[in-house]
Amino acid sequence: MDATDDRLSGRVTGLEYSAIRQMFERAGTLEARGRDLAHLEIGEPDFGTPEHIVEAAFEAARAGATDYTSTAGIRELREAIADRPGKSEDFDPGAEIAVTTGGMEALYAALQAVVDPGEEVVVPTPTWPNYLTQIRLAGGKPVEVPLPAAEGFDLAPDRVIEAIGDETAAVVFSSPSNPTGRVFAPADVRAVLEAAAVHECFVVADEVYDSLVYGDRPAGIPGYTDHEEYLLTVNSCSKRYAMTGWRLGWLAGPADVIEATSKIRSVVTASPSSVSQHAALAALTGPQDRAAEMAVAFEQRRDYVVDRLADVPAVSAPPPEGAMYAFVDVSALPGTSEAIAGRLLEEYGVVTAPGGGFGAAGEGYLRVSFANSLDRIEVGLDRFEQMVRDEL
Ligand code: PLP
Repeated sequence: MDATDDRLSGRVTGLEYSAIRQMFERAGTLEARGRDLAHLEIGEPDFGTPEHIVEAAFEAARAGATDYTSTAGIRELREAIADRPGKSEDFDPGAEIAVTTGGMEALYAALQAVVDPGEEVVVPTPTWPNYLTQIRLAGGKPVEVPLPAAEGFDLAPDRVIEAIGDETAAVVFSSPSNPTGRVFAPADVRAVLEAAAVHECFVVADEVYDSLVYGDRPAGIPGYTDHEEYLLTVNSCSKRYAMTGWRLGWLAGPADVIEATSKIRSVVTASPSSVSQHAALAALTGPQDRAAEMAVAFEQRRDYVVDRLADVPAVSAPPPEGAMYAFVDVSALPGTSEAIAGRLLEEYGVVTAPGGGFGAAGEGYLRVSFANSLDRIEVGLDRFEQMVRDEL
């Protein structure tokens, strides 16, 4: 087939797969040739979805919950989201919550609803690359604001606020942060929200890792603001309940924006999967012990990664306060982060994500995911340590 750029829209020709996805694909090619690789690149919990959630989905399907639902999602689920364990804000389930096909659709719909072509969207970096791509898909211009490496990439409200101007439609970030594992301080988040509201721009706050917090800082992003009319929060069942494949998330925010996103989503997906919505209902309203056990397992892995990295010469990482990633400074090694990740993959059999893929501020780093089992993390870190010792 003759596939020239002309055949495709300008919207898509500039798009690239994320650095994480590219490493995953390269790894797949090596594995197809029989290579044993330690996967420390993806943010996919290695646990199965808890049994009672799977069972609820079976029951719902058998009982006939197999039709389109309201675009905003079934009412019981929106109520369960409004009352969910560990929630950080009150939202009206009737008008201020939309159930979506994963956090990704929530983010997509939010950006499509509030960003006009040519408008700027401020993104503190290092950042999850999906934000930058989704902003471009909405016709917006990402404005990267590098966070200070010397402070472990903590939110620097002054820098972020300085970047907000008349052309800014939104500020987007996650806390706990992917890729740095940083949990932003409430006062810093509040400062950004307040400045954004003064400029009448939105804050899209991504809380998908809010169940994985290891330090003293509180997890939720909202709850710190008097400006709910400019706050949109994204969340999902993916990480908390090991439900990535069920594609079930939500967007919460002011009623006019939720209504606008429903108009968009009504012509794209019509509604989230009905069966997944019943699974999510069981997840949010049922026993929380499996979710708690998984969070404990993540904390053990996080502690292990911190201990092991402390023994590797010439590298360092801010201790992750949340999420499932260590962001490791490998600038003592030769070459770009992409080259380093490439050697680590090809020569030592460890898959990581190069920091340069998380915005310019991530250059010189590797993102190491601890979503894999302790055994595989150990194999991966043994090999990583070997590479560092070989190359120094
Ligand atoms: N936000 C962040 C920061 C993520 O890392 C991810 C997935 O890795 C998501 C959102 C989306 O998750 P999902 O669409 O599975 O809910």
